[in-house]
Amino acid sequence: MDVTLIILSAGNSTRFNYEVKKQWIRIENKPLWQFVADRLNSFYPFKKTIITANPEEKKIYEKISNYEIVKGDKERQLSLINALERVNTKYVMITDVARPCVPKEIILNLIQNIKDYDCIAPFLKPVDTVVYENKTINRDKVRLIQTPQLSKTSILKKALKTNQLFTDERAAIEAINGKITYILGSEESKKITYFKDLNLPCLKKPSNIILTGNGYDTHKFEKNKKMILGGVEIDVDYGLKAHSDGDVVIHSLIDALLGAAGFGDIGEFFPDIDEKYKNIDSTKLLEYVKNLLTKTGYEIINADISIIAEKPKLKDYKTKIQKNLSKLLNAPVNVKATTNEKMGFIGRGEGIAVISTANLKYKDWYEDYHSRK
Ligand code: ZN
Repeated sequence: MDVTLIILSAGNSTRFNYEVKKQWIRIENKPLWQFVADRLNSFYPFKKTIITANPEEKKIYEKISNYEIVKGDKERQLSLINALERVNTKYVMITDVARPCVPKEIILNLIQNIKDYDCIAPFLKPVDTVVYENKTINRDKVRLIQTPQLSKTSILKKALKTNQLFTDERAAIEAINGKITYILGSEESKKITYFKDLNLPCLKKPSNIILTGNGYDTHKFEKNKKMILGGVEIDVDYGLKAHSDGDVVIHSLIDALLGAAGFGDIGEFFPDIDEKYKNIDSTKLLEYVKNLLTKTGYEIINADISIIAEKPKLKDYKTKIQKNLSKLLNAPVNVKATTNEKMGFIGRGEGIAVISTANLKYKDWYEDYHSRK
């Protein structure tokens, strides 16, 4: 049976209340969204897998996976509508990234039992007494609904063409009187909402590998411009030609950081044709990258920078640059300055080149989880 899998991963993870967004915590060496996609694809040969992502993060999802990535929206349902536009199979299975440990039997049971129905959903029975509006009700008639759910694509598309917001696909299909059936769900399908919910059986701790990236940048000198290196103003009467403030040190450092994370390069994040970045303080760009790395699950171990220049003399600035960058990254940064022995364009005093290295590791949420208990 041809089924498309949609994984909703565009949420902003506010209630999770941790420096890493929940969809980005590492399970061994995969972000949670990729772990979920790979896991479900190992259970059933889905025709296609679509993942919705926060618009700001969409390009990095695309960089590190081969799944189809669709721009998400503020509301779960709007993200889902965007994803459904790409679905052309008869059936579509939809799951939240926050339910990573759904058992294989649930996936297969949903697929085996959809025939003759428009939607099938797993449910749990309440184990406690249920009171509704001050009256005890027969709990055997109460169903606590889970995801993933499997729906007939055409019916679901129709059901979502209203202004009403639904909490799940089943509710949308119910509203247009579609045929719904149920299977028994599982405790293992529990949803991660808060940080304390991370005690799920399938979640393994992040791998402790070190990721290394390099960066290189060069800029020409230009008269009558301020020179800024590593966020520090250098007292000379020339600066560096650039669309931005020309901070060649920060640019190479950003490339090293993005490289270590596998996120591409500085030009993809801050295109130099974009008016937004004209004369921008490069410190702001570094802060943006630092925040991006933090919320996507990385921790900076250290960075090492070599500035290659015949002039200006940097002896008196090296420490200041190093301290400024260490503070911005909240990690040790080393700054070295050297000349090019009068050779080539640097030797002729035409500009500056900088080479940087950065090391990252995955933020150890597992350790934090166990130390908070
Ligand atoms: Zn540059």
